[in-house]
Amino acid sequence: MRAFGLLLCTLPLIAACSPGGESSIIVRDRTAPIANSAFLVEDGRFAAVGSAGAVDAPAGAARVDLSGKTVMPAIVDGHVHLGYADVAAMTDTPANYSRDNIVEHLERLAYHGVAAALSMGLDREEASGLREETIPGAALFRMAGAGIAMPDAGPGAADRRDVPYGVTTEAEARAAVQELAAAGVDIVKVWVDDRNGTVEKLTPPLYRAAIDEAHAQGLRVAAHIYYLEDATELLRAGVDGFAHGVRDLPVDRELLGLLAERPDVFLMPNLPDSGYLTERDLDFRAETLPESAVERMREQLAARTGPIPGRSYRLQSNNLLRMQATGIPIVLGTDGDGAGWDAHEEMADMVAAGMTPAEVIVAATSAAAAVVGLDGSGSVAEGYSADFIVLDANPLENIYNTRRIDSVYLRGSEVDRAALPARWAE
Ligand SMILES: [Zn+2]
Repeated sequence: MRAFGLLLCTLPLIAACSPGGESSIIVRDRTAPIANSAFLVEDGRFAAVGSAGAVDAPAGAARVDLSGKTVMPAIVDGHVHLGYADVAAMTDTPANYSRDNIVEHLERLAYHGVAAALSMGLDREEASGLREETIPGAALFRMAGAGIAMPDAGPGAADRRDVPYGVTTEAEARAAVQELAAAGVDIVKVWVDDRNGTVEKLTPPLYRAAIDEAHAQGLRVAAHIYYLEDATELLRAGVDGFAHGVRDLPVDRELLGLLAERPDVFLMPNLPDSGYLTERDLDFRAETLPESAVERMREQLAARTGPIPGRSYRLQSNNLLRMQATGIPIVLGTDGDGAGWDAHEEMADMVAAGMTPAEVIVAATSAAAAVVGLDGSGSVAEGYSADFIVLDANPLENIYNTRRIDSVYLRGSEVDRAALPARWAE
């Protein structure tokens, strides 16, 4: 990309193809991509989007040549858990949890083209206040706060089961929701899972009370689920979305019938890996990892034997497609730890499951922005926040092209992708 001027926040940016150059393409939403396109960014928003001849640049506008590039909206991840992972050291523990570490994760997300992420519970005190901040060069932080489960249950990792509200009565469930509402959460998260018989599952009376109270407070509820029977009962209780797919059985007519009546319920399929990590995945991760970490991942990869872990993936893929066919919104949610590459790996898994690249890009942008509660984000459209990724190749042709990132712009400003990995390597 040749930049003809510096982009300053107060200065409009015109991004257009150069005369005689290759056409640039804008991929957005469900509408057809715009070929030979141009757009104008002013005050962090798209002021005009259209074909190259139809967008005028005001005097003094900085121009960025996007010849031959593809522009897609920045990604929104509807399911993350930030603050726990030391990405470079490859550890994942509450000992790592700090405000600085969450900010680093938000920067790692930005590097990978993620504009905003919804933390699905497990947020500790150190995270408070981050939701209200806009940190330059970092993704926006949205959150479910602590979340709700039975006492000493909830997340898979036992070392963070102290974080959720542990409730045993309907009154406690309602009180927890009221506290979450007062803390300004974007959504209420409930865990309905016995972790293979090792913890107590949140009971229907308890999650019914939580859902009822959340709705009274104007909040939606997202459920961590595993079993089909819980998904069905949660739908009857009025749950607003699923932070995982159904993982024990093929979905049945009953569930699909309930979904058909509730076309607003969202599904974050959060698929298991479609196969082992590949060299291609490792190369992408290596962009933001120290050499020592890449070496360790390479060794782990080489040590793997046996068939690829496909059975659970196939079950969940089939369930995803059947639930998608009811018309509900499918939304990207990685359950990621802040490393940032997860969104791209999940998008590839969703295409491997049978979704089209266009459907997956909608799931990862406008549909996710709607669930996270970001109005005016998730599309390259007039008036929207200028959050976009400039790609060297078109992801509609191959979803792996979302990884061929030339540059990332959040709120109209370019993320300094050259400087970030150097900082993380220190
Ligand atoms: Zn999760």
